[in-house]
Amino acid sequence: MQFIEALKLRGKLFFLFILITIGLFAIGIMGAINIESTKKNVDSLYFGSLIPVTELNEIIQMYHNGLAGTIYKAKTAEISPSQTNAQIQNSIAKIQGLWKSYDSHFKRDTELDYVEYVSLEINSVNEYFQKILQMNMDEKNLKNISLHTLEKNIAHVNSVIQKLVKYEVDVAKYEREKFLKKYSSAIAELTIVLTLIIIGVVVIMYYVFKSIQMDHTKLEITTKKLKRVNKKLENVSYTDTLTSLHNRRYFNLVYDQELKRAKRTHSYITFMMLDIDFFKQYNDTYGHIEGDYALKSVAKVLQDVLKRPSDFVFRLGGEEFGILLTQTDDTNSSKLAQYICDSVREREIKHTASKINKYLTVSIGVVCCIADDALDEDMLISKADKMLYQAKDRGRDRYCITTNVSDSRIK
Ligand code: GH3
Ligand code: MG
Ligand code: MG
Repeated sequence: MQFIEALKLRGKLFFLFILITIGLFAIGIMGAINIESTKKNVDSLYFGSLIPVTELNEIIQMYHNGLAGTIYKAKTAEISPSQTNAQIQNSIAKIQGLWKSYDSHFKRDTELDYVEYVSLEINSVNEYFQKILQMNMDEKNLKNISLHTLEKNIAHVNSVIQKLVKYEVDVAKYEREKFLKKYSSAIAELTIVLTLIIIGVVVIMYYVFKSIQMDHTKLEITTKKLKRVNKKLENVSYTDTLTSLHNRRYFNLVYDQELKRAKRTHSYITFMMLDIDFFKQYNDTYGHIEGDYALKSVAKVLQDVLKRPSDFVFRLGGEEFGILLTQTDDTNSSKLAQYICDSVREREIKHTASKINKYLTVSIGVVCCIADDALDEDMLISKADKMLYQAKDRGRDRYCITTNVSDSRIK
C-alpha cells in the first residue's frame, strides 16, 4: 500500500518536473528568437540608416571642400595646376566611390526613382568638374571660370543630396518607431506567455500538492484505523472472553514487568491466588451455565474491589484468579484478601452443595514481600499456590499469607 502511494507520488513529481522543464524551454526559445530579431533590427537601424547618411554627407563635403575649394584656390593661384589636377581627380573618384557604396545598400521601391535622379545629377555635375579638369590639363587659365555657375552647380547637387539625406533620416525615424513598437509588443508577448506558464505551473503544482496532501491524509486515516484495529486485537488477545478480566497471556507479560520494576525500586509486591470453593459441586448442582454466571460474579467483585490503576486482576484458568498488587504492604494485603473473601460471600450466590457455607466462597493464597535481586521469578507463584492449599486445608473461605518466601503464617 505504502509502496503504491510512493510510486504515485513519484509519478506526480516527475510530471511536475517535466512540465516545468518544458515551460523553461519555451521561455528560453522565445527569448532567443526575440533577442535574435532585436539584434537584426538594431543592425538594420544602425548600419542601414547611419552609413548611407554618412556617405551622402561625405559626398556633399567632397563637392564643397574637394572640388569647389580646389577651384577657388586654383583661381587665386594658391595651388599649382598639377595640384589642382590631382585634387579634382581625387575628389571625383572619391565621390564616385562613395556614391557606388551608397547605391549598393538596400533601397526601398519608393526611393528608387529619386536615387536614379540623384545619380544623373551627380554625373552631370561631375561632368562639369571634368570639363574644368580638361581645361586645367589643356593649361587654360581657370580664372575665367564663372563662380556663379560653379556655385549654382554646387548648390544644386547639395540640395539634391540633402533631400536624399532627409529621406534616409525620415526612413530611419520610421524604422525606429516600427522597431520600438515591435520590441514592446514582443516584450508584452513574452510577459503574457511567461505569466501563463507560471500560472499553469502554479495551478498544476496546487493540484499535485493537494492530491499528495489527500493521499497523505488517506494514509494517515488508514494508519490510525490500523492502529485502532491492532489495539483491539491486542486487547482481545489479552482479555478473557467470559469474565472480561485480563487472561493468562497478559498475566505472563505484566507479572514479569511488575516484578522487574519492584526489584529495581526495592518495593512491595503482592501476589494472590484465588480459587472458588467446591466449584465442581456448584457446577454439578446448578449446571455449567450457572457456573459461568458465578465466575462472572466473582470477577465483578474482584473488579469492584481492585480499582487502582496499579492493581491487576487476571483469570488464570478455570475457577482460578490471580491478583497482582504493587506498593501494598502485608497488613494492607491481608485486609484486602479478607475483604475479597467477605465480598464474595456477601454476594450471596447460593451454593447448597458447599460443605462450609450456604453461599459461594473463595480461598486465597497470598504472598507479600519487598522485592530484591535474590527474589526468584517463580517463587511468588509457587508460594501463593502453597498458601492457597493451606487456606483450603484450614477450612476454605479464608486467606493464608506469607511475607517471607521461606516462612508463612496462617490466619
Ligand atoms: P476446591 O474447593 O478444592 O477448589 O474444589 P473445586 O471443586 O472448586 O475444585 P476442582 O478443581 O475439583 O474443580 C474445579 C471445577 O471448575 C471443575 C470445572 O468443572 C469447573 N470449571 C473450570 N472452568 C470452568 C468454566 O469456565 N465454567 C464453569 N462453569 N466451570 C468451570
Ligand atoms: Mg481449582
Ligand atoms: Mg476450586
